[in-house]
Amino acid sequence: MKQCNVRQFFKQFPDDETCLEHLFNVRFGQGHECPKCKRSAKWYRLQSEQAFSCQWCGHHIHPMVGSIFEKSRTPLQLWFYAIFLFTTTRHGVSAKELQRQLGVTYKTAWRMAALIREHMAAIDGDEPLGGEGEIVEVDETYVGGHKKGTVGRGAAGKTIVMGMVERGKGKAIVKVIPNTTQKTLQGEIAANVKQGTEVHTDGFLG
Ligand SMILES: [Zn+2]
Repeated sequence: MKQCNVRQFFKQFPDDETCLEHLFNVRFGQGHECPKCKRSAKWYRLQSEQAFSCQWCGHHIHPMVGSIFEKSRTPLQLWFYAIFLFTTTRHGVSAKELQRQLGVTYKTAWRMAALIREHMAAIDGDEPLGGEGEIVEVDETYVGGHKKGTVGRGAAGKTIVMGMVERGKGKAIVKVIPNTTQKTLQGEIAANVKQGTEVHTDGFLG
């Protein structure tokens, strides 16, 4: 079981640089085939711009291009924090709340909220995961809560997030669930995973 609270968030993403690296690794990763020279490459961080460079031909990859962060002047860490708030808040986050938490203008907060909602809707699509011969990993995570050292399933004040990810493809569905009873979990799996899929769990789920 994993837990993620504000402190852990800032430990994992202490600055814009770690966020950019994370974005690169999630979208491309070391060993990613260079679109120009077609070789599996090591990618080096450029100092002059927010990009990574191919070890063979020097081609640049800008991890933010084609993402919701493109063309934004808001620091990446604030974006990540905004997404963290969205994924850990049961009833969503208003633009006003983002403005307050991030210290950005209302206009910026509104645009961020709209893009994040749109993106989360895309992840949270109607299309179920898996299929014959496919594997879907299921895991539940407790997020939020303030009590130090609160450990255990169903810890009070925490939000339970259920994640379902297709192995090898990265298609994912993330849901906030009310509890971790077998009924709830099996209901979510039945609703979001195609029949015939091999479902892997952390061992707790029924
Ligand atoms: Zn190259």
